[in-house]
Amino acid sequence: MVSSTARGRDLEGKTALVTGASRGIGRAVALELAAAGAFVVVNYARSSEEAESVVAAVGANGGEAMAIQADVASEEQVDALMKEVLGQRGRLDVLVNNAGITRDGLLLRMKTSDWQSVLDLNLSGVFLCTRAAARPMLKQKAGRIVSITSVVGLTGNPGQANYAAAKAGVIGFTRSAAREFASRGITVNAVAPGFIATDMTKGLDQESLLGTIPLGCLGTPEQVAGAVRFLAADPAAAYITGQVLQVDGGMVMA
Ligand code: NAP
Repeated sequence: MVSSTARGRDLEGKTALVTGASRGIGRAVALELAAAGAFVVVNYARSSEEAESVVAAVGANGGEAMAIQADVASEEQVDALMKEVLGQRGRLDVLVNNAGITRDGLLLRMKTSDWQSVLDLNLSGVFLCTRAAARPMLKQKAGRIVSITSVVGLTGNPGQANYAAAKAGVIGFTRSAAREFASRGITVNAVAPGFIATDMTKGLDQESLLGTIPLGCLGTPEQVAGAVRFLAADPAAAYITGQVLQVDGGMVMA
């Protein structure tokens, strides 16, 4: 586990929204940001019990959080989510665009619905949440936006044309938003995990994966959360924007 207390409570008084925070990487990010002192909004789509258990775990560690259900691929639901966050908290300091799905299949056999649902959540969801979060951040003249992309968005992957296209799109989106918002005190960055041990990767053949990872093991959600926390921290990451931080055990080296 990342030792949050060792690095202090550098997000004290901040409000953070983490999309898809009921499980996996999002859950770890929620716990990490809460341990840094942030009030965390735990967004989820379907897993209400898991989301409430994240809220309870934050509380057990002395932090504060609340869960809000919303499908972040839906414009209407994102707007309602943001309205509720601002109604309850009055501000938003950190947005972590984490929610994501895979619908893998070889290109020639890929169903249009599988292409579309991955693009809708993994790319359009990032746009919808960022646009909605940027409004209060622009008023505050401060904010941190971190999106979870993937090394697959850098390299491509057979069977994941939809996912790779969405994740590559997140990188282009991040750089464009970073340029648009830089003069307004808002930084926009991405974290690109390699293979992380979550529900998303549990069906994969772990043995064959290990040979592709120089550090020789899968990453943990907490290791990704540490990178997100760094990019959200002030002043540590205040001079970093438009960047993609890889957390991949050395899988992809430029
Ligand atoms: P995961 O364990 O499958 O969890 C996915 C999360 O997204 C869940 O909390 C889920 O909520 C939420 N979600 C799904 N559809 C949603 C929607 N329409 N609206 C809001 N939330 C929704 O996935 P993970 O492995 O932690 O991945 C998290 C992010 O990291 C994703 O963007 C993924 O692409 C990226 N990533 C993962 C890896 C990896 O190796 N695991 C590698 C690179 C990048 P419910 O529980 O309510 O469905």
